Amino acid sequence: MKDVLIVGAGFAGAVAARVLAEKGKSVLILEKRDHIGGNAYDKKNEEGILVHVYGPHIYHTNFEDVHAFLSRFTEWYPYSHEVVGNIYGKEIPVPFNLNSLDMVYGEDAQRLAAKLTAAFGSEVKVPILKLRESDDPDLKMIADYVYENVFLHYTMKQWGKKPEDIDPATTGRVPVFISRDNRYFTDKYQGMPKDGYTALFEKMLDHPNIEVRTGIDAYRRISFNEDGSIYIDGDAFEGEVIHTGPIDELFDFEYGHLPYRSLRFDWETLDTDSFQSHAVVNYNVTEDFTRITEFKKLTGQQVPGKTTIIREYPLAYEPDKGEIPYYAIINDENMALYEKYAKKAEKYKKLHLIGRLAEYKYYNIDGITKRALDMCKELC
Ligand code: FAD
Ligand code: UDP
Repeated sequence: MKDVLIVGAGFAGAVAARVLAEKGKSVLILEKRDHIGGNAYDKKNEEGILVHVYGPHIYHTNFEDVHAFLSRFTEWYPYSHEVVGNIYGKEIPVPFNLNSLDMVYGEDAQRLAAKLTAAFGSEVKVPILKLRESDDPDLKMIADYVYENVFLHYTMKQWGKKPEDIDPATTGRVPVFISRDNRYFTDKYQGMPKDGYTALFEKMLDHPNIEVRTGIDAYRRISFNEDGSIYIDGDAFEGEVIHTGPIDELFDFEYGHLPYRSLRFDWETLDTDSFQSHAVVNYNVTEDFTRITEFKKLTGQQVPGKTTIIREYPLAYEPDKGEIPYYAIINDENMALYEKYAKKAEKYKKLHLIGRLAEYKYYNIDGITKRALDMCKELC
């Protein structure tokens, strides 16, 4: 019997495991997949190129404690993420900024930049839905351009809905930036783990108090009693249970399935040094995929003559087809369903739900690491 059982070896589970192990607790992690790392898992493909198996992951944070904690397990390759949007073959910086404005409006850009700055200030991030509320004809023209060419088609591909019909916080992640700064993220710390995410996880989980078992689905092995007690494989478990898998699955989909968006990845390795201008190129108006990532440009890995890319095709999540639930679809109806599960979970005082699946929430790496660090301060 361990002190703590953790379901899932992604950032939520692994960070919690390490912190609790260092507090002297014995920890068992059960992970469904045959590897650690959750969706941040990376590995070298047949050509020796380090790829992110579940889509590109770029580390960035302003949290000092998160950066200090993760830096114990890796050095960082100093990568600063810049994205361009392909708009009918022309590439402009995304988030749309004053450099993008120059490329779209040419000689008129200086005047328009002055208007944007007068209205919102300098070095300011303005969500597209806010910019669209402008009454000024010039600001309205810019808003219409950005809405139509940067957001509308990309969001339709990603979510199957228009920007105004999804959670405003989602499009707010990529605001119009009244700045000449082309970086996708402006956080103080950003980069890529020098030897990759999986190596970071291996170091984080390398502790005498942590045991990791992969290839084990914890679903149905954990059961609950009306009196608030928790059973594992039929035996009462007195320790803490940290669950980072889907909350609806944990409770046997009692109230129904929580909806997600999923992704299909189309992989290609090409006999060339370089495929595209940037690590990530968004396809904002054309194509069925949302973006192409070229991994060598993310990691800085040198592999002459070969490069691996992925195209991302968003799709509705259908659990029966074995798809992966990637993105929670945040809206009133789904949050009400989530709340029913969260309320049920409250009854079990030793059950702690954290992570993007357990909390039905979009977390960046730093956000979920922060959440796990903070939770473990309170726990045990
Ligand atoms: P996960 O990483 O999903 O880990 C949960 C683990 O639980 C999984 O390994 C799963 O197999 C396991 N599990 C589930 N059910 C069971 C079960 N029944 N039994 C046992 N194990 C189970 N964040 C960034 O900061 N930067 C980025 O660039 C970035 N890019 C992203 C790109 C994509 C396509 C996606 C989808 C997300 C991206 N993120 C990014 C977010 C990042 O992936 C999350 O912050 C992180 O994965 C959250 O960690 P987690 O532990 O909550 O979830
Ligand atoms: N988005 C867009 N065009 C872009 C980039 C983003 O419309 O070129 C919208 C889209 O709705 C997306 C959201 O902004 O889902 C958040 O983008 P982000 O890059 O943060 O998404 P993620 O990294 O989660 O895929």
